[in-house]
Amino acid sequence: MDVYADEAIAQATLIDQKVSEGSAGKLAGMVVSLKDVICHKDHGLQCCSNILDGFESQFSATAVERLLAQDAIVIGRTNCDEFAMGSSNENSGQGAVKNGIDLERVPGGSSGGAAVSVQMDMCLVALGSDTGGSVRQPASFCGVIGFKPTYSRISRHGLVAYASSFDSIGIFAKNVKDVALVLEIISGHDEYDSTVSGNPVPSYSQRLSTGKEHYKLAYIRETIESEGLAPEIRKNILGTINRLKDIGHQVDEIEFPLLENILPTYYILTWAEASSNLSRYDGVRYGYRSKNTTSLESMYKKSRTEGFGEEVKRRIMLGTFVLSASYYDAYYTKAQKVRSLIRNQTKNILDKYDFIITPTTPTTAFKLGEHSHDPLEMYLADLYTVQASVAGLPAVSLPSGVDKTGLPIGMQVMANDFEEGKLLAFSNYFLNLN
Ligand code: GLN
Repeated sequence: MDVYADEAIAQATLIDQKVSEGSAGKLAGMVVSLKDVICHKDHGLQCCSNILDGFESQFSATAVERLLAQDAIVIGRTNCDEFAMGSSNENSGQGAVKNGIDLERVPGGSSGGAAVSVQMDMCLVALGSDTGGSVRQPASFCGVIGFKPTYSRISRHGLVAYASSFDSIGIFAKNVKDVALVLEIISGHDEYDSTVSGNPVPSYSQRLSTGKEHYKLAYIRETIESEGLAPEIRKNILGTINRLKDIGHQVDEIEFPLLENILPTYYILTWAEASSNLSRYDGVRYGYRSKNTTSLESMYKKSRTEGFGEEVKRRIMLGTFVLSASYYDAYYTKAQKVRSLIRNQTKNILDKYDFIITPTTPTTAFKLGEHSHDPLEMYLADLYTVQASVAGLPAVSLPSGVDKTGLPIGMQVMANDFEEGKLLAFSNYFLNLN
């Protein structure tokens, strides 16, 4: 939605000079885009919402600082669903994004612009955010790699909050090496985010060839049998499973009885967190303020009514409802308990297996407008991605061929806490099989 052409060229000239002097950083000249929810000092930041009209970041996200310190070049900021809420990039104050493979189709969301910026070679790497699948799902729709790390791997300082206990910066690229390189640079301890892990950050990019001869993989029976799964995607994942078995890996069918509880748990908790996080947009401190107001209260109300889009308002209201005194225990407390069960049971599987594999999405990229009138249909696009988000685990969507009409299919691979290195090595191995 914004291209920083002059600035990028000036930056490139400086980096050229550093290269000739031998003092360039590890990412010298790597062109990256930033989703419009990631702070970049002195640049516009709107979360694709009218409520942040005209807002500029006063500081840069830690991830951005670290990229710039290694001489990456920020080429622009990318369109997304408003405050990262959506699965098609149609809920954007900046208009919808189209999928580069078929302009009548969505790129997925919420990081739709980020996915397309890599898909169409406008940059090498895009930073997005993934709360329930917003990097993996659009990556799958656009045929690129989309990586979400363990919840606390990358600092959230400077990532605008949607649902703080789920939000994670994620990485789009066309090859695993670029993902690994960026991940090792932006991960790790940060004094500005008390939730980020102090675990040492391995040199992921140096360990990509450590793939094992015998991986132990699990797939959840119900994810493959699910009625909502497009038959071609089912065929694709079953084909992958058979191929992996044929070359000597163990791939077991397992059960996950809590599967149908994951999506409701995700939405109840993220609505609750969103309603609290978004209370700060009151017309006083940031961006848009309604002009037709007569009192402080009407200024708050009108600024929020006029500034937020429909989906964001729906979630604020639902979140306020699930947090209200009479329903708190029935929804919020219960969902927190179910979240612990989902995390524990997923981790139990990953104690026995290297990875869990699933399709990334139940369908390939759908048409613009196809689901925009039914929020529930839209929520189903996250059916398979929310498990890793609820559990806080790392997961990646890898391109896995195309359907009859040429639309990309993605395979999701989920790993245990902090097993990014193992996950990236497998990703590299898997993509080289194709
Ligand atoms: N599509 C999901 C949602 O609307 C995920 C969004 C995200 O990961 N930011 O909440």
